Amino acid sequence: MPEDCIFCNIVNKTIGSDILFEDNDLMVIQDILPKAPVHVLIIPKEHIASVNELDEAHISIVGKMVMAAREHAKSRGIADSGYKLIFNIGPDGGQTVKHLHLHLLGGKPLGE
Ligand code: 5GP
Ligand code: ZN
Repeated sequence: MPEDCIFCNIVNKTIGSDILFEDNDLMVIQDILPKAPVHVLIIPKEHIASVNELDEAHISIVGKMVMAAREHAKSRGIADSGYKLIFNIGPDGGQTVKHLHLHLLGGKPLGE
């Protein structure tokens, strides 16, 4: 684990965060600077830098991340109104934290 990775430190609870769900593989945490009424991050416990570093062995965790996002959307009552799931990748993608994470945004119309 990279010691300076903020999400690894959230996963190992060295840094505090608002943990909304946790299992053996992933966490759902509140985004510290929410851009919508619902803005959470789905984070694998394993350090994976980005979608670019995924390999065949990670297919299962990516599926679990999407399912966890969907279940969280249901639990927040936004499944039917709709939501966005976003992976930012690399500099042009706007990725600031180099530990894979899936944004779940919703709770208001978010447009295109
Ligand atoms: P990115 O731009 O890399 O796709 O998204 C990183 C996200 O992590 C941003 O939405 C940012 O607000 C959030 N974030 C950055 N640092 C922290 C932190 O220490 N705790 C939490 N909960 N979220 C963070
Ligand atoms: Zn990490």
